[in-house]
Amino acid sequence: MTNSLRCPTRAEVVARVQAAGRRVAAVLPYHYPRALLRAHGFHPVEVWGPPGVPRDEGGRHFQAYTCDIVVRATSFLLRGGLDGVDAILVPHTCDALQGMGSVLGDFVRPTPPVLTLYLPRSRRPVDHEFLVAELRRLGEALAAISGRVPAPADWEAAFAAEDAADRALADLYARREGLAVTDREFYTVVRSREFLPAEDFVALAGSLAAGDPPGGVPVMLSGIVAEPLDLFDHLSAMGARVVADDLASGRRRVYPLQDGGDPHTRLATRLLGGPPDPTRGDPIAARARHLREQMGAAGARGLVIYDPKFCEPELFDVPLLRRHLSAAGLPVLHVEVELTGSLTQQTLTRLEAFVETLR
Ligand code: SF4
Repeated sequence: MTNSLRCPTRAEVVARVQAAGRRVAAVLPYHYPRALLRAHGFHPVEVWGPPGVPRDEGGRHFQAYTCDIVVRATSFLLRGGLDGVDAILVPHTCDALQGMGSVLGDFVRPTPPVLTLYLPRSRRPVDHEFLVAELRRLGEALAAISGRVPAPADWEAAFAAEDAADRALADLYARREGLAVTDREFYTVVRSREFLPAEDFVALAGSLAAGDPPGGVPVMLSGIVAEPLDLFDHLSAMGARVVADDLASGRRRVYPLQDGGDPHTRLATRLLGGPPDPTRGDPIAARARHLREQMGAAGARGLVIYDPKFCEPELFDVPLLRRHLSAAGLPVLHVEVELTGSLTQQTLTRLEAFVETLR
């Protein structure tokens, strides 16, 4: 990697944060209020599986067609992977995560308390109002654990730190074409926002060297999470380059920043202000328009939708998205993977064949 900072692991960050006297919340994907957690004394560390954890233990609690993120995260928890965290936050991103929240909270009842956050499925004023109330409820639950009710100075400090990190993430995307980094390096830094303290993320993002990125057939990546990161090495070896993304673990979390006002209202406005997103029930036409614009601006010749198997919110959108984009002359490949830690030959062959058609 061209930057001089080494990116620590999640475990190293958890140990460091706890040694500094802060609480850690394990957070499931993917929209949640970082500044609210921080103001209440919690550092969020996200759990996207993790890949490679066997499904067996988690699988006992869910139907066979439940996605890998939910099943492997539950396995991880049952194997003690989340021992030592102070809370587990399960946002209601989709029915599978709602199910996970219920299974954990009502049946498994792990030692760390399980908190939920119900995210509205639309962006009307009434949805905003609902989310404000949800954020207040979550804040009360966090305060009950930490004993800390944020003072105005706590909110101010939390927003200052998290806004700086959100700006750094947006800036990273804006500078993408002027960074001398591979796709794997770029996404290693983007994804470090999932667990690094905000200040460390700002430093890491700012450390990337300016210059020309490697070349390749320009593609856009959509979907949930680009795991394993080897995906980028494979795409690069196939002669492709990821010039834009619409990933839940990436660009979908570049939120517009809001200044001042009631903290919960400000957070709700921010969370509802992100780009079109299948988990929010946004109209397909709005998603297709957004993807077309992003692909046009980045010069992407095709779209790879890359999802964990059985991801319902993504699956609902794929046929119509494909129709809209194909009508605009933009080819789409939908790939479903298991989060096993490596890619199958079948997936690699499909990706390679798709890249070939874009040359
Ligand atoms: S992969 Fe899809 S179904 Fe699974 S948790 Fe994420 S959004 Fe929900």
